[in-house]
Amino acid sequence: MVSSISQRMVLRVVLVAVVLCLLVTSSIAELPRFKHPPKPQQSLNLLVVGDWGRKGTHNQSLVANQMGIVGKKLDIDFVISTGDNFYEDGLKGDDDPAFYESFVDIYTAPSLQKKWYNVLGNHDYRGDVQAQLSPVLNLKDSRWLCLRSFILDGEIVEFFFVDTTPFVDEYFTDPGEHDYDWEGVFPRLPYLSELLKDVNSALAQSKAKWKMVVGHHTINSAGHHGNIEELKHQLVPILEANNVDAYINGHDHCLQHIIEKKSGIHFITSGGGSKAWTGDVKPWNLEEMKLYYDGQGFMSMQITENNADIIFYDVFGNTLHSWSLSKDHNVVASI
Ligand SMILES: [Zn+2]
Repeated sequence: MVSSISQRMVLRVVLVAVVLCLLVTSSIAELPRFKHPPKPQQSLNLLVVGDWGRKGTHNQSLVANQMGIVGKKLDIDFVISTGDNFYEDGLKGDDDPAFYESFVDIYTAPSLQKKWYNVLGNHDYRGDVQAQLSPVLNLKDSRWLCLRSFILDGEIVEFFFVDTTPFVDEYFTDPGEHDYDWEGVFPRLPYLSELLKDVNSALAQSKAKWKMVVGHHTINSAGHHGNIEELKHQLVPILEANNVDAYINGHDHCLQHIIEKKSGIHFITSGGGSKAWTGDVKPWNLEEMKLYYDGQGFMSMQITENNADIIFYDVFGNTLHSWSLSKDHNVVASI
């Protein structure tokens, strides 16, 4: 009798311990992590393009062609897309032919047959979000990898991809004729606070020499959309507290390099994958603004332990702007 009571008590304690353990584990959500180290003894080389999916129009094919040439020259490891992958309204489903017309059949150069790490933009949220996240696309083209938020671990550098669209109030309060697919985002406030918490803890735990954050939306920009205040207030303090080197985005259809005076963070826009030339550039402090190019193009990065060489290219492959970041002397050299 005594032994059966004590057995029951032990069982109860074990059950409580298991439940507590499960609760603790589930409250520590972690961003999915993918490893993509550089080739042995070499720099990690990559291209960044954004705002591109227009079935080849608006010079998308010309940009793709130059990406192929630069990609070959640098023997790139992968491509980063800063979002707005399919215009105007994302994908209709995982069988939408736009996946072929705007991606598979456009970026055909051998050098671009590498992994593409994609985030979602606001235009992607106007379609079937789940379709872009679906493994079905990966079966159709193994280059494709798209998640809402994740970490790309390149050993010397870590890229933290952040789902920025749900931060923007206007899409919720004044969506106009657009229909956003918020499945998986609602309830919005817990989604955002959990995401910020995950990004903050991932950045704080990172041992990588370089930390770069990738999101679709602009934070500092002289372009059409300009600064997104929601991100300035909620994400920037996390970038500053964790000594992030750069925030890389699309959304404004331009190529832009701003070094924020206060934080020293490089705000880099690579959103020239197709339609550009909006012509509405706002004035900006010239001490901070290193390049504003209103047209199409893309960007390359070559990253080693101590250096990051970054170059913007136009639609003809001409270098528009290049600079190096150094971990040795904390020097920024513009060429
Ligand atoms: Zn956008």
